[in-house]
Amino acid sequence: MKTVLIGRTSEELAQITRGLNLQAYRTDQLMDWMYRQRVDDFEQMTNLPLDLRSQLDERFRVCDMKVLQHRTGEEGTEKFAFTLRDGEVVETVIMRYEHGVSLCLSTQVGCVMGCPFCATGAGGLLRNLSRPEILGQWFLAQRRLDETGERISHVVMMGMGEPLNNYEHSHKSLRLLHSEEGPGISYRRMTLSTVGITPRILQLAEEDMPITLAVSLHAPNDYLRDRLVPVNKKHPLSELIPACELYAEHSGRRVSFEYAMMKGVNDHPELARELGVLLRDMTCHINLIPFNPVPGVDYEPSPLEAVRKFRDVLSMVGLSVTIRRPLGLEIDAACGQLRRHLGAEDAVT
Ligand code: SF4
Repeated sequence: MKTVLIGRTSEELAQITRGLNLQAYRTDQLMDWMYRQRVDDFEQMTNLPLDLRSQLDERFRVCDMKVLQHRTGEEGTEKFAFTLRDGEVVETVIMRYEHGVSLCLSTQVGCVMGCPFCATGAGGLLRNLSRPEILGQWFLAQRRLDETGERISHVVMMGMGEPLNNYEHSHKSLRLLHSEEGPGISYRRMTLSTVGITPRILQLAEEDMPITLAVSLHAPNDYLRDRLVPVNKKHPLSELIPACELYAEHSGRRVSFEYAMMKGVNDHPELARELGVLLRDMTCHINLIPFNPVPGVDYEPSPLEAVRKFRDVLSMVGLSVTIRRPLGLEIDAACGQLRRHLGAEDAVT
């Protein structure tokens, strides 16, 4: 089986080129072809000698993921389903905003967290994604954008899976996406979304990577959160909120709290008041997200009126709060939905 090169740092690539008895500058050339020119065919790497190109082709691949499906939605949203080497499928979404082009990455196939409103969680966890599979998503999405001269300026780890449950590969992928030898995306333009694995939040706070932490909160008390985000039973709010405070302090970034508004479940103004008390002393921002309906899941989006009322209560206590449009709704950009639609037999190619 051929070894995949995307997702490797220059040090790791240098080990490979040394093993092939190549001079050091060949590493730089390969890094340039992969991360700057986005070329995946060794034959097109024209500053490498012909015999080296065929030698590389015999043993290596730049990226071995394939585009299984590509759908374009309104407002410039594009959703990909990529087939991995073992036939599993992951999703990646491109979102265009005024401030740039954002890429939403998956970090696991499926998810073990079991949030009852989520399609990804319904299938359980199949496996973690490796760094080459996380960077492979960037590589294929950026290649698509190269056709229109656009560049991925922002990265959000908000796709399938819980990134902090795949800590090693997730944080090293962000490091490589940030590095000058790689895509060179600023940490300030990266967001990692978590349900709140507090020991890993504390670990991330020590990494010297000032990315934005987005916490899927969805409830202001343990009673409701235990139900909506089951990991809360293990890491309750009394543990999570101090960990977020510490993260904000260490990273110098305000923490973002995501709150998916579900009709009659977590959208009562009284809960907004409770949330205001919970977060009033924190440097944070709250994103209210009208819930994306998921087929087969018994939760509905809150009416816009209820979302606005909820926002007004939070604003009144001085918290920074926005209502985020459910970008990608028209192409099922909620996590796990595309894969569900594809079905297992379509997903394996
Ligand atoms: S909402 Fe996120 S953490 Fe919860 S099951 Fe879905 S993918 Fe996992």
